[in-house]
Amino acid sequence: MKIVMLGAPGAGKGTQAKMIAAGYGLPHVSTGDIFRANVKGGTPLGMEAKAYMDKGKLVPDELTVRILLDRVAQDDCKNGYVLDGFPRTIPQAEVLDAELSKMGEKIDFAIDVEVPDENIIRRMSGRRACVNCGATYHIVHIPPKKEGICDACGSELILRDDDKEETVKNRLEIYHKQTQPLIDFYNNKGVLKEVDGTKDSAAVFEDIKKILG
Ligand code: ADP
Ligand code: ADP
Ligand code: ZN
Repeated sequence: MKIVMLGAPGAGKGTQAKMIAAGYGLPHVSTGDIFRANVKGGTPLGMEAKAYMDKGKLVPDELTVRILLDRVAQDDCKNGYVLDGFPRTIPQAEVLDAELSKMGEKIDFAIDVEVPDENIIRRMSGRRACVNCGATYHIVHIPPKKEGICDACGSELILRDDDKEETVKNRLEIYHKQTQPLIDFYNNKGVLKEVDGTKDSAAVFEDIKKILG
């Protein structure tokens, strides 16, 4: 099963993608996580991506597509995957579609997690991410057991640089311009499913399970 998560930055794509991955035994593939791991490791890819990420801009399609196609060509992806944060532009979606078509495959579900912009700004200022393993929490809605410490690995939790309010506004604007058109793209393919992302994360996951079966 191949799944694409759609929705604004902060809608809860990552949270749900991890629950789907665990529940259905699929790898969670996040281009944001791949970029952040490279930034942390100081690789050439990371240095290139960082300049865009810090401003809340999208990393260029050519680079992003190359990274994603490499990742889904790995062995653990052969029975499917959950894509989180990719595609984010129509050209990215078209390349993915063309690559899948070559193998007689397709995206089975595009799940759009709907959350209004007002809620997003509030959510992002409360998001905390683990510096080590990338796990995410929310200081009010999904708090870690011990304040400031990752449940999964015990490392420190931080506010991501690009989650500061001004950058979030940029990212939302880019989302509406460049990413929201993907909702029509997948609707036209008959695979779009919408869920109400303002419910608590367990309730959103229940709705997603009804869709995936
Ligand atoms: P969020 O979880 O808030 O939606 P991500 O972790 O998915 O954010 O992405 C963080 C940043 O990484 C983006 O703002 C962008 O700079 C870059 N990025 C991630 N995925 C893509 C993509 N598919 N295309 C271009 N840039 C991307
Ligand atoms: P995305 O991957 O779409 O950028 P995340 O999954 O990282 O979004 O969620 C953004 C923030 O909102 C995180 O702090 C996360 O813990 C929190 N969050 C996720 N789902 C919900 C929810 N259903 N209700 C409230 N907060 C949530
Ligand atoms: Zn951790």
